[in-house]
Amino acid sequence: MATDRLYALLERIGNLLRTEERAAGLRHGLQPVHLQALRYLATCNRYSNTPAALTEYLGLTKGTVSQTLLLLEDKGLLRKVASTEDRRVVHLHLTDAGRAVLRDTLPPELLTQALGGLTDGGDTLEASLTGLLRSMQVANTQRSFGACASCRHFRREGPERFRCGLTDEPLTQAESQQLCREHEAAGA
Ligand code: SF4
Repeated sequence: MATDRLYALLERIGNLLRTEERAAGLRHGLQPVHLQALRYLATCNRYSNTPAALTEYLGLTKGTVSQTLLLLEDKGLLRKVASTEDRRVVHLHLTDAGRAVLRDTLPPELLTQALGGLTDGGDTLEASLTGLLRSMQVANTQRSFGACASCRHFRREGPERFRCGLTDEPLTQAESQQLCREHEAAGA
């Protein structure tokens, strides 16, 4: 297998995406890491919108994430809400302004255009990259942060009626598509 070639391709694509993110973020006075934090918080579920989960997802230090959250809060892009179950736990919620920034910046337009030029719109590429990411996460013993509906704890109880088998709480249709810190791939 052409590992060197694939590594070069992934690295180059990653660099191009970072360049696009940097340019898009600058319009709002933000760095790529700030946009990545906003994007995670827009796509994760209610069990996963905490500083600890964000730190794990981004693979950064607590200090860096703490600075990121301070800046985003100062700019009015997110707000911290104490948990009603445990006042020591803080949940992070995007504001309308935070969602507007995301809509204006990610995914980069360059990527959208390039994927539109592929014959299947990127479906084959998505399947291959999903498998590659999963293999690397397993090898690295990292959490998968996958979408809820693909988790082994996910239960379908009827049309648009779902439940988390881990917490035994009901899940909405929207939550079934969100990222979760506790996700474990079905069949893993
Ligand atoms: S079913 Fe899995 S992914 Fe969904 S909320 Fe429960 S633990 Fe998280």
